[in-house]
Amino acid sequence: MKPAPFDYVRAFSVDEAVGLLSDGTDSKVIAGGQSLVPLLAMRLARPERVVDINFLQDLPHLHREGGHLVVGALVRQRQVELSNEVSSVPLLSLALPFIGHRELRNRGTVVGSLAHADPSAELPAIAALLRATMFVMGPEGSRELNALDFMVGPFQTRLRQDELITAVSFPVRADGDGYGFEEVSRRRGDFALVGSAAWVHLSQGGVDRAEAALFGVGATPVVVDLTRHLSGFGESDLTTAVLEPSREVAQGLEPLGDQHGSSGYRRRLAEVLLARSLAWAYQDARRSS
Ligand SMILES: Cc1cc2nc3c(=O)[nH]c(=O)nc-3n(C[C@H](O)[C@H](O)[C@H](O)COP(=O)(O)OP(=O)(O)OC[C@H]3O[C@@H](n4cnc5c(N)ncnc54)[C@H](O)[C@@H]3O)c2cc1C
Repeated sequence: MKPAPFDYVRAFSVDEAVGLLSDGTDSKVIAGGQSLVPLLAMRLARPERVVDINFLQDLPHLHREGGHLVVGALVRQRQVELSNEVSSVPLLSLALPFIGHRELRNRGTVVGSLAHADPSAELPAIAALLRATMFVMGPEGSRELNALDFMVGPFQTRLRQDELITAVSFPVRADGDGYGFEEVSRRRGDFALVGSAAWVHLSQGGVDRAEAALFGVGATPVVVDLTRHLSGFGESDLTTAVLEPSREVAQGLEPLGDQHGSSGYRRRLAEVLLARSLAWAYQDARRSS
């Protein structure tokens, strides 16, 4: 299929882009185009106008700022993956290679993935788990949104139609932090059937944070806090201790089944991947503390 007709406009500054998004024409931003172009081609999106932000001159680059890694709206997924800075946010290093294929990541942006809000995508789950901050510009000025509650449904976010995300900032690893990431897909490069990103923090040898974000199991990433279940355990018994709470979490999920995997299969995957990612995160935290 071919897209329905639309006007194509290049913006050269954030203000110009926001002006175009808020002038009453049904407009869609295009960044890497890796999600929008297929939607246009399938006529699942039929905007009157596409606003190309690839020529914006005033967006932040990829850089460290205090305890955060700031990723501007035009920073490609592959650019982050290959950067020196990526090691400061280990979940990005772990997850980015799982997103599609290298060619796709050469164009696709980190911010575009967050804006697109696919419930099976890796980056919205990681951003939610880490409480990343989204920097947004609209006709009334700028505002910040917490990634934890940014997604409100499949392909739905708190972003208004006349707003542009200019950047996202992820907190960098602190002493005692550890991370784990696990996903299962039918073939390498496919969207995950189910995945889990985990974050454990150790203080004086004990677990004082054990959280995970599951994706592919619901309308939005599901962030769970298992700290109270794991706080009393040490290295020898934690791998066992994660099993029961992971089973409980999975039983409470209602993933949709499809031709790639039944609801029950996905629930079972969630249980196993949650336990594994937490165990990896614990071991990683031991190394970093
Ligand atoms: C074959 C294939 C496999 C894929 N596999 C995976 C996968 O395994 N995991 C995964 O997570 N993703 C996957 N993707 C999606 C990919 O990660 C996209 O790159 C990403 O979802 C969108 O980034 P983009 O820069 O291309 O955004 P675009 O396609 O340009 O835009 C996507 C949406 O976000 C909006 N948008 C973009 N930037 C902004 C902004 N700054 N402010 C406001 N709105 C904005 C657009 O209006 C549009 O609605 C796959 C895509 C394809 C085609």
